[in-house]
Amino acid sequence: MKVFIKTYGCQMNENDSEVAQYYLEQDGFDIVDNENDADIVILNTCVVRKKAEDKFFSTIGELRKKNKKIGVMGCGAEKERENLFKRGVNFVIGTRAIPRISEAVELSLKNKKVAFFDDLLDQIDYKNVLKRNSKYHAWITIIYGCNRFCTYCIVPYTRGREKSRKMTDILEEVENLTKKGIKEVTFLGQNVDAYGKDLNDGTSLAKLLHETSKINEIERIWFLTSYPTDFSPNIAYEIANSPKIGKNIHLPVQHGSNKILKKMNRRYTREEYIELIKKIREIVPDASISSDIIVGFPDETEEDFKATVDLVKEIEFERLNLAIYSPREGTIAWKFFDDNVPRLIKTKRMAYLLNLQKEINRKLNEKYLEKKVEIIVESEGKNGYFYGRDIRNKIIAFKGNPDLIGKKAIVKVKKITAGPLYGEIIKIY
Ligand code: SF4
Repeated sequence: MKVFIKTYGCQMNENDSEVAQYYLEQDGFDIVDNENDADIVILNTCVVRKKAEDKFFSTIGELRKKNKKIGVMGCGAEKERENLFKRGVNFVIGTRAIPRISEAVELSLKNKKVAFFDDLLDQIDYKNVLKRNSKYHAWITIIYGCNRFCTYCIVPYTRGREKSRKMTDILEEVENLTKKGIKEVTFLGQNVDAYGKDLNDGTSLAKLLHETSKINEIERIWFLTSYPTDFSPNIAYEIANSPKIGKNIHLPVQHGSNKILKKMNRRYTREEYIELIKKIREIVPDASISSDIIVGFPDETEEDFKATVDLVKEIEFERLNLAIYSPREGTIAWKFFDDNVPRLIKTKRMAYLLNLQKEINRKLNEKYLEKKVEIIVESEGKNGYFYGRDIRNKIIAFKGNPDLIGKKAIVKVKKITAGPLYGEIIKIY
């Protein structure tokens, strides 16, 4: 039987799909790369935003018309659970039950509706999940779940409480991946800085970064996503001391007003966030700080919004993911707060921040002009352009060829925009 896995949302879902694929292949299923060739389609879903949720519901409708067997995994599986059967889904797999995926497919082929939500994280055979969608880069989930309960966020309800993997297992997985040609890894967690805290044995993200840096074949190490009060200066010291650790810290601030931060249950103030960024920049002077911001949270006044604008101007983020607030069913904000900022004001504020960030991007990018930068070549774009990333996570486009993918190169930056930089290859190695 042929299976197609369609992945929505974050990199943790990407990694979960790779794990699901591993189990299905072990059990004799063929994985195909498009839904038309498949007998069974598994949707690995995201419900962090309303738009993502609507998308997966409409895909279920389309697949039903094509008479495919449909499975749902990911956050949508946890949020909707058995309700999905009413929509015509054949099986549902919780975020921690991936090792049972083949069993679910087989039962659905016998026309049984099954939903598995066991916590089988400890059983996942990560060190043998060696197939990755990229030939040189691997996503590696190191901690599941989140204990933070930001009032707008569905993740703690869909992914459960924090649970770290053993450091020895992660290092073994990295070592095995290098034998397959992997040179670059990204450690993932909804709150990656909390890695190791639940193990109570001194394990930490800083230690994991330190140990991974010692693996010769590994050339770059990244980690996502940080949480301000869990970010330890030791992580910054590891970045400063290792040429292999990416100098990009994605540290979502979410808002610039203390009133809204409190309402979001973000557990830090604007002043504490700014202080943390100063500390990081003292330890890693050329650190690239990126962030997430939500616009139009309940009760956000012009004054609150201005506090966000001022913060963005003060920090000068290298990259900013902006989202308009939309209530997610089941969260504290959905239950208790009025979604009282009119849509028009939300979109106006969003547009203002987008423009501001573009100006900042252009200004920061000017520092790159005529500079020689070391990149790892990642992907092919349009019109003969290829893309690579430097140690600060800056994307640089240049004319190249597919043989360069996965290689290191020195590129001289010749043109800047508010988005990618454009350069010429000087050296390949
Ligand atoms: S820290 Fe991130 S994942 Fe956790 S509840 Fe807050 S927004 Fe959601």
